[in-house]
Amino acid sequence: MLYKFSNKVYYSKHKFSHLEPAIGYIKGDYFSIMIDTGNSEEQVLNFFEDLKKENLPLPTYAVLTHHHWDHSFGAAYTGIELISSKKTNDYLTEMSNWKWDEFSIDRRIDQKIETIYSANIMKKIYPNLTKINIKLPDIIKSGDFTLNLGKLVVSFYTNDNSHSDDALLIYVKDEKVLFIGDSHSKSYRTTPMSYDKNKLANYINFLKDLDFEYAIPGHGNIYTKFELLSLLETEYSEL
Ligand SMILES: [Zn+2]
Repeated sequence: MLYKFSNKVYYSKHKFSHLEPAIGYIKGDYFSIMIDTGNSEEQVLNFFEDLKKENLPLPTYAVLTHHHWDHSFGAAYTGIELISSKKTNDYLTEMSNWKWDEFSIDRRIDQKIETIYSANIMKKIYPNLTKINIKLPDIIKSGDFTLNLGKLVVSFYTNDNSHSDDALLIYVKDEKVLFIGDSHSKSYRTTPMSYDKNKLANYINFLKDLDFEYAIPGHGNIYTKFELLSLLETEYSEL
């Protein structure tokens, strides 16, 4: 299912139960892009089906908000070029050398590289774990950059946040909307999950300075800028 944010911005419905993040879609006059590739072939095919139903052109590029599997494992099934930050490329390169079998995944849970929750969903989506196919990015960006989609410029900001240090925050100034991936979330590599105080302060300041009205996260409902900042400031005050 696709939500229409505006004539140029759409996003798919996320599913907590399948750890399917929202996939974003930004349409320019020249070409369109998708934000994140979901966690599986099924999620990608459903997304493309939804675009067809709305008579929207298929995207020319996919851009990753960060490397986590639920956002990146669908990339192999898009058939289009993949763009990521340099750090995301480094992580995916490392992950492509890992073993993807039950024993190896469970070991990574012990090492806090993976959570039980996320690994259980991965095993449900990939009953045959050897089907996991990690596509490496075709275009690697080492700093902030922009793409002109045709009468619509999209800005990509590299961001080191509590959840991951390889993020791209994706900003459509004309539409006053920001795709944040999981950048507003805690790190799952600590017990309990937590924010890094300095990173959260930097993140809040970045958001305050940016002129946007809505933020679209990977998992969960769309936020107004006020809602997102209120939530994060409450978290910060408790650190
Ligand atoms: Zn994540």
